[in-house]
Amino acid sequence: MEIPLFLYNSFSRTKEAFRPLDMNNVRMYVCGPTVYDRAHIGNARPVLVFDILFRLLRYLYGKDKVTYVRNITDIDDKINAKALERGVNIERVTEETIEWFHKDMDFLGALQPNYEPRATAYVSQMIDMVSKLISLSFAYPSEDGHVFFEVEKFADYGQLSNKKVGELKEGVRIENETSKRNPLDFVLWKPSSNEEPGWDSPWGRGRPGWHIECSAMAKDILGDQFDIHGGGIDLIFPHHENEIAQSTCSNDMKKFANFWLHNGFLKIEGEKMSKSLNNFLTVFDLIKRDFSGSAIRYNMLATHYRQPLDWKFERLAEAEKTLVKWNNKIRSKNEADLPKKVLNALLDDLNTPLSIHEMHQLFNKGKFDDLTDACEFFGFVAKDKKGSLEIPSELSENVDKLIKERNIARLSKNFSLADKIREDLLDAGIIIKDSGQETTWETSQNLEIKKLKKL
Ligand SMILES: [Zn+2]
Repeated sequence: MEIPLFLYNSFSRTKEAFRPLDMNNVRMYVCGPTVYDRAHIGNARPVLVFDILFRLLRYLYGKDKVTYVRNITDIDDKINAKALERGVNIERVTEETIEWFHKDMDFLGALQPNYEPRATAYVSQMIDMVSKLISLSFAYPSEDGHVFFEVEKFADYGQLSNKKVGELKEGVRIENETSKRNPLDFVLWKPSSNEEPGWDSPWGRGRPGWHIECSAMAKDILGDQFDIHGGGIDLIFPHHENEIAQSTCSNDMKKFANFWLHNGFLKIEGEKMSKSLNNFLTVFDLIKRDFSGSAIRYNMLATHYRQPLDWKFERLAEAEKTLVKWNNKIRSKNEADLPKKVLNALLDDLNTPLSIHEMHQLFNKGKFDDLTDACEFFGFVAKDKKGSLEIPSELSENVDKLIKERNIARLSKNFSLADKIREDLLDAGIIIKDSGQETTWETSQNLEIKKLKKL
């Protein structure tokens, strides 16, 4: 049976009919987080966009017939810098950040990918790929321990970003790696000082460049060719362009990914998100402000994935209200059969805003069974529909006790202890609210009884 799914392919710059290479194993790779800090909502956008695509592919081809890989970049100079700044070792930074990332994405209701490879576990595959590129003369080592990919050797370079090599040359910033033959050549391997993380290689102790990490992990898990490669629009150049160059040249010039999908940028209240504007918004900030994961999903998916998204709190509050209204009508069900209009919108390049519009129509017409199915698919069912948020009385007493301890700590100006108690409780899913002299608490949607017991 022909499945009429159309996706916009950044590579061809057209909407194309999607046909997997293998109907029994639809394969998708999405660039995952570099783990040195809390995920901001710009990081959450590709996670939620490709979560919907993952759900749709599973719906269309079968749950066990889709392989979704989203890597973790745990080798990166930003991580090294963070570890140095905090005075802790690198593993501490990466392990902690990975745990945060998992919790935040669980809170947003994102399904786990089938594989979540970490770069540190694939260094030998990266070294193999770099060696092969050197032996085929697509790459060259320099005397100072770097290995570079020689862009001029790959005739198709610039195809994804639709740029000529000459134009790209002008835009490239001159780095201090003076051992390059050509400014566009990019790093496959770089030398490490004693303080930096490093692995033994034919070119001395060093570490991989970021681009080769994804090429090597994708090849190892998905093979030389696969169906969909995704990520944010900011990754098109140079990251994805370089992934294509490395993978194509080391895999006998076979086409790497058939479809390239990119989500648009995200702004906050009309402004670019930046530390200097002080509008840097993490998923954890939203959890602390007690927004629900499903409302964050809704707000994210109410804009088409290729459009720039303007994050507005007013709309998030509206999303929250809509979902309360819908959830009052939702019945508990297991297997979802997507209503036709909701499905058709998704089949047209993941038109989630149109799907959501159709869901409003279902509500207005009183078609609550259909609405339930659509909400299940989109992850819009409130978590408390699925289980109770009540906690046993002895735990409740313990929370009260901890809050008393926190108040004493605050009075004696031991703010680090007070903050720690607050964070620990929040981590277990308890939100504290201070108003004047009084402190109240309530459970949030990510309540974890097990954690609460340990406090
Ligand atoms: Zn990547």
